[in-house]
Amino acid sequence: MKIGILGGGQLARMLALGGHPLGATFVVLDPTPGVCASVVAEQVVGDYDDREKLEIFAKQADVVTYEFENVPAEGVKYLAAGKVPVYPSPQALAVSRDRLNEKTLFRELGIPTPNFAAISNLDDLKKAARDIGLPAVLKSRTMGYDGKGQAVIKTENDIEDAWEKVGRVECILEGFVTFTREISIIAVRSRTGEVLYYPVGENTHSGGILHHNAVVNGFDDPMQKVAEDYSRRLLDHFGYVGVLSLELFDANGVLMANEIAPRVHNTGHWTIEGAETSQFENHIRAIMGLPLGDTSPVGCSAMVNFIGAIPSAESVLTIKGAHFHDYGKSAKPGRKIGHGTIRGDVKADVLASLDKLLKLV
Ligand code: AMP
Repeated sequence: MKIGILGGGQLARMLALGGHPLGATFVVLDPTPGVCASVVAEQVVGDYDDREKLEIFAKQADVVTYEFENVPAEGVKYLAAGKVPVYPSPQALAVSRDRLNEKTLFRELGIPTPNFAAISNLDDLKKAARDIGLPAVLKSRTMGYDGKGQAVIKTENDIEDAWEKVGRVECILEGFVTFTREISIIAVRSRTGEVLYYPVGENTHSGGILHHNAVVNGFDDPMQKVAEDYSRRLLDHFGYVGVLSLELFDANGVLMANEIAPRVHNTGHWTIEGAETSQFENHIRAIMGLPLGDTSPVGCSAMVNFIGAIPSAESVLTIKGAHFHDYGKSAKPGRKIGHGTIRGDVKADVLASLDKLLKLV
């Protein structure tokens, strides 16, 4: 079976690496020639809304999926209207790419979320700041990721600057959550409705970008069951097929949903070495209509992103339990170009190795 992926970055590359043993082959659509997935997949060079290129791409694929949610919805709808099945559904993509729709859905499904209000102009913003209270976070409704398109409003004096910074676009204002930790849960649903969850991971961000994450308590995290329940509501709502990631704030034992990603996720990279079946393989199994693989962790794991620069393979691999992933991308400030994973059977050893790996980035 040939799988088409919209986007040819590291997620597409790891999907292909996870899917090749299953006999799958891959084609990616991406506007940049020679993207990092192109060493393990064929590439159609073209924009995501270029109908001619979409057609060439779709003709080659038995099933289509995507590696990021900012794919223009029109392109996905166009594909889904044709003969090729698209998983996850375009509906999940449409919700996830618009923060207002996303938060509204959380509310409808009874999933707690920070207070929020829709903002179309400066007057809306001033009113919402009074209603929701400060501090608060202004976020553009679309095209925001890794903390982009966001501004924290601490006092009334920050309101106009925030409006300018985010670019005077349609936004939402969210109450600022003083969370004790950020966690995420990755779930996978098969074409027949079977659902499996990975253990929740604890995420540490820096400048709005995931810096590192750790999964050390297996399925015993105190928030595991609640996170599974929220994830399940979303999967059922969409009749979802594939991997779904849900990011949550944990405020002293109260979980609030921040966002979903209808795809494999950076906070699940540890599953390559740290789970019986990786998120990448399970996503491919799900969309191919194969039985899902066991999501149980193999010991404890931690993952560190290499952002803007990459340590040498030697320096990483001398650390006990370390695995090295170089995406083959050129280095640019703020760009994810690789990651390292620590896996081990003893939590203290993994945390000690994590400390060493963190010193290299
Ligand atoms: P996002 O792009 O929504 O994932 O936001 C990036 C990061 O900003 C999150 O991982 C949090 O660390 C922080 N953040 C986002 N929204 C809020 C909020 N409502 N309250 C506190 N911190 C937030």
